[in-house]
Amino acid sequence: MADTPLAQALRTLLGPDRVLDDPAAREAYSRDATPLFKGLPEVIVTPHSTAEVSEVVKFARQSKTPIIARGAGSNLCAATVPLQGGIVLSMMQMKQILEVSRNELLAVVQPGVSTQQLDDAVAKEGLMYVPDPGSKTVSTIGGNVATSAGGLRGLKYGTTKNYILALEAVLGTGEIIRTGGRLVKDVAGYDITRLLIGSEGTLAIFTEITTVLSPRPKASKYGVAYFNNLADASVAVDSIVASGILPATLEFLDNTCIKAVEDFAHLGLDKEAGALLLFGDDGSAESVAKAVTEMADISSSARGVRAVTLAPDVAAAEALLYARRCSLP
Ligand SMILES: Cc1cc2nc3c(=O)[nH]c(=O)nc-3n(C[C@H](O)[C@H](O)[C@H](O)COP(=O)(O)OP(=O)(O)OC[C@H]3O[C@@H](n4cnc5c(N)ncnc54)[C@H](O)[C@@H]3O)c2cc1C
Repeated sequence: MADTPLAQALRTLLGPDRVLDDPAAREAYSRDATPLFKGLPEVIVTPHSTAEVSEVVKFARQSKTPIIARGAGSNLCAATVPLQGGIVLSMMQMKQILEVSRNELLAVVQPGVSTQQLDDAVAKEGLMYVPDPGSKTVSTIGGNVATSAGGLRGLKYGTTKNYILALEAVLGTGEIIRTGGRLVKDVAGYDITRLLIGSEGTLAIFTEITTVLSPRPKASKYGVAYFNNLADASVAVDSIVASGILPATLEFLDNTCIKAVEDFAHLGLDKEAGALLLFGDDGSAESVAKAVTEMADISSSARGVRAVTLAPDVAAAEALLYARRCSLP
């Protein structure tokens, strides 16, 4: 198949190995995790550097070609479906962890690093990348920043926006900017970093991200409570929060989700329950044991409770977390 003028121009600009336009690639990038939406891109460009991102953006601007930045495509709002054709800019080849500083409690990464990959890498240093979206095994840090992804630990720790110190980004003009710095106390002036976080690819394309890390908690523990219905589970949530506990995890699934997850993952969930409340905490062994026991006690005496169990070991806790991660988002 002959090159289209767009593919030809981009190959001349970046080299042949950065541009995909075969039917299989175009089909693969015509969808993301969102059901029902589809749009064929004309080309997929896979930059390896900030300079290449800048070149492509300048080209798209000059030629008035639609362009969409894409990480893993795990978003659920068709944000990376190229409904107007044009260029899908896949950031997946910019996948290096550039620095992990134990002393400064930060990491500097390229946007295509996966959330899990970063957390695994910093775990070796006794550190934790805190945001943990349910999609973390596939989602990219660039996509997480662009959506300010939250996760199972959001109640206690917040979302991605609470962990980003600095960004390098390419604006719609192709200009490369740097925002923020390496210090948590870098607070003077307009907070451009926070403006860009959550902008879903509309304001800039992130090419380098500096993120805060935390010491890895020494212990964690999880439990599950089943209720007759969602309203009863909500009352238990209110009681737990009002008791002064700020748990790392306090998330519920309704009956439809419980059934779907159980049919998919076969974890032994109670499919008859109207709601499932997953609770858990992390920290020191003593504080975790105390918080989780208190949450179990509060749930046990709450209205409409059917059963409360604590995960006896890490494998059982992981199974509970997996149940939550299976349900979107
Ligand atoms: C099973 C499952 C569980 C999920 N759980 C959660 C959850 O717990 N919490 C949550 O918040 N979300 C969740 N999501 C949604 C999704 O995973 C997140 O929004 C995630 O942050 C998207 O990352 P991504 O790399 O897949 O980005 P993509 O889906 O590729 O892109 C998302 C947005 O970011 C933009 N973008 C991507 N990379 C860049 C970049 N480098 N620069 C600028 N813009 C960019 C895109 O243009 C798009 O607007 C879940 C999705 C699934 C499928």
